Amino acid sequence: MKEKIIGIAMANGADLVGFAPADRFDKDDAIFKIMPETKTVIGLAFRVLRGIYRGIEEGSTYYQYTTMAVENMEETIMPMAQMKVAMMIEQEGYTALPQRRHQQIMAQEDGMNPEVAYDAIYRGRTAEVQMDFLDAAVKCGLGEKGFYRTLLTDEFGPMVRYCFILTDAELPASEMIAPHLCDNCGKCAKGCPGKAIGADGRVDDWQCAVYYNGANGTKNPFMPPEAFADLDNRLEIIAGEAKVSPETAKKILDKIYFYPPAQHAYQCSICGRACDMECYVHLEEKGVLTKKFKTPFRKREPWQFDVKDFE
Ligand code: SF4
Ligand code: SF4
Repeated sequence: MKEKIIGIAMANGADLVGFAPADRFDKDDAIFKIMPETKTVIGLAFRVLRGIYRGIEEGSTYYQYTTMAVENMEETIMPMAQMKVAMMIEQEGYTALPQRRHQQIMAQEDGMNPEVAYDAIYRGRTAEVQMDFLDAAVKCGLGEKGFYRTLLTDEFGPMVRYCFILTDAELPASEMIAPHLCDNCGKCAKGCPGKAIGADGRVDDWQCAVYYNGANGTKNPFMPPEAFADLDNRLEIIAGEAKVSPETAKKILDKIYFYPPAQHAYQCSICGRACDMECYVHLEEKGVLTKKFKTPFRKREPWQFDVKDFE
């Protein structure tokens, strides 16, 4: 059955498939609140096309990242693979419960998901239990935890998205991967255009939201010179130096409109997940990624506008 699951998942777009037995999770883990009879967590990881990041790296095309690397992955490709695998499991007489991030439901009152519009988020919803996705991915053997709390895979580095299926079928476990990719180089944090990654690797989700959406004018080819005209610290914001609170973040986000949003409340990414790109470039340069390309991702020194252009 394990081989059958891997075959169906891969035929439907998954690149990595891992299996975590229930005993890798604490007894009070969310997976047991979601489905108490869980015996195995099946992890599916999907590569995000490297070419989609190239458009943002070159400053030439941005919309593809949001539509093809976020929205279509989360709303079409990943659920399709989950459903096909889950249907096969149920055909065999076991129960299967797909688990995908709910992008718009947050347990915390000030929770934020940088990928979606802040006013489309339902906050303080503790009744909707969500599993710890990164922790489960590591337990499924899909990869290791990188400095900025991202999944690093041997094949694609951080350029992946992932989801799960909980089942009461007992399936042979995948080995967990001993951390070996992240060397704490700090390039992910340095590459963030809004200083959203702290010294401890934590990402400030509101800070991230502002700069994910393009508040740094030196890395945003769509920002007009008069941007944020009525905000006192506009140059600080544009330079990526402003420290935001949830309240100030909302004010800034209300003034950012460079592209129409995608469907399902997804916001257009202008940073293009620079943290992931910098990490990828670093891992590629070190030669530690197993998926090789004919040419390196980075072709030239990264471009940047001058904050003086906005004075
Ligand atoms: S950029 Fe460096 S510190 Fe950041 S996750 Fe990658 S390897 Fe780790
Ligand atoms: S690079 Fe973008 S996605 Fe990454 S932490 Fe910074 S703003 Fe957020």
